[in-house]
Parts: sequence; structure tokens; C-alpha cells
Amino acid sequence: MYNIAVLGAGIVGVSTAVNIQKKLPGAKVRVISDRFDQDTTSWGAGGIFLPTTTRIQGLDEARLKKYAKDAWDQYSSIATSELACETGIQVVSGYVLFKQEPQIPLYADYVYSFRKMTKDELERQKLSDYNYGFYVQTLVVTVKKYYPWLLKRQKDNYNLNNSNADTNSILQRCERLVPAVKVVHNYGHGSNGIILSWGSSLEALQLIISSLSSKSKL
Ligand SMILES: Cc1cc2nc3c(=O)[nH]c(=O)nc-3n(C[C@H](O)[C@H](O)[C@H](O)COP(=O)(O)OP(=O)(O)OC[C@H]3O[C@@H](n4cnc5c(N)ncnc54)[C@H](O)[C@@H]3O)c2cc1C
Repeated sequence: MYNIAVLGAGIVGVSTAVNIQKKLPGAKVRVISDRFDQDTTSWGAGGIFLPTTTRIQGLDEARLKKYAKDAWDQYSSIATSELACETGIQVVSGYVLFKQEPQIPLYADYVYSFRKMTKDELERQKLSDYNYGFYVQTLVVTVKKYYPWLLKRQKDNYNLNNSNADTNSILQRCERLVPAVKVVHNYGHGSNGIILSWGSSLEALQLIISSLSSKSKL
């Protein structure tokens, strides 16, 4: 049996833990963090599905598109299921306004509806600085509902209290394993973390699986 520790219990950590547990049901997956729920950044986020290429430095567009598409497939399947209410993943529509002419965003191909705003629609906003805009029908992930639902799927296997004994034990085992020890990093989602967490955690899962299959230690 594998023992896998996920460090951090924001939306990224919890999504990663859930995906690992789903793919590797025999593994003991534990989320270790000093803060959970309303004490994380994730809790206060808007969760609107409007990922952009400009907001995450160092992530190439192809990977960003894959994260976004994987996330869309996951969230849209929930939004149209009986879980929509419980998870707080719902369909929303509205305008996204710009002062300068924007590029067509990467989500344009798969949100429910996407088009440029008409001149009439722009004028009705009565915001003279904003001369461009899109009408989008997309999803919102209400974190205050989705996060507890996701955390519950992690089989209550999490720990709020980082004891010194745990910390020392982890460090000692890591030291013993170095240089074979492998750490998969999955952080730095900037202003898109709620939306991209599902897709990036699938990539983290693949890295973990390839580490296991190459018999190297995690
Ligand atoms: C106002 C606002 C609006 C936003 N709106 C959106 C939006 O509409 N759509 C969107 O996709 N994103 C949005 N975001 C961005 C989103 O909130 C973040 O990208 C996302 O929450 C990052 O998730 P995370 O799990 O990486 O980090 P966090 O939620 O910050 O979680 C980090 C976890 O790591 C733990 N941790 C950190 N250091 C240690 C340590 N040394 N020891 C133990 N534990 C540790 C913390 O306790 C916490 O559990 C918004 C952000 C803000 C602030």
C-alpha cells in the first residue's frame, strides 16, 4: 500500500487528494495542512469559470487549455446533474467588459454560450470607458458549498493538527529516501485556482502514477 501525503488543504490540495484516492483506491492518502475551510484563500474566491492565458506566469498555453478543458468537463457534468445544488456548481450568464479590444479567450470554445456584445448592448451599460465586451454563459463554482463536498469525498482523512512528531517523522523518512524522494508540486494558480484545480490535479496524479510505475519512491 502506498502512503501519499498531500500538503495544503486549499482547493488544489483537496482536488489532488480526491483524484489520487479515486485512481489509487488502495493508497492511504492524507491531507496535511495548518488551515482548512474558511481559513484558506480558496474559501473566499469567486469561482467563476473564465480562465485566461494572461494570469498565470510560466504556464504554457497548451497545458493551461488542457487544465481548463478537464475542469470544464468535470464541473459541467456536475452542474447538469442532481449534485448541482449540493455542490454549488451552477450555470450563470453575464457580460465581461473591456476598455481595449480583447483577444478571443480560451474558454470561448466550450462554455455554454459565447459571443461579442452588440453595440446596443454596450451602450445600454452606460459605461463609456468600456467599448468592448463578451456575453458569456458559463459556470460558477460556489466554493463555500463545493469545498466541503469535495473534502468529504476525501473520506475524512485529513489532519488539522501538525504535530512535531509528524513533521520530524516525515523529514526523517524524506532524508532517508533522498535522492530517490520525489515531490510533485501543484501550486501557483494565481487568480484561476478554483477553476484550474481539477485539471492541474489530474496532471499531478499522472506524475504520481508514473513515479510509482517507475518504482521510484514518492
Ligand atoms: C478575491 C479573490 C477572488 C478570486 N476569484 C477566483 C475566481 O473567480 N476563479 C478562480 O478560479 N480563482 C479565483 N481566485 C483565485 C483562487 O482563490 C486561488 O487560485 C486558489 O484558492 C488557490 O488555491 P490553493 O489550494 O493553491 O491555495 P489556498 O486556498 O491558499 O490553500 C493553501 C493551503 O496550503 C496550506 N499551507 C500553506 N503553507 C503551509 C505550511 N507551511 N504548512 C502547512 N500548511 C500550509 C494552507 O493552510 C492552505 O490549506 C480568487 C482569489 C481571490 C483572493
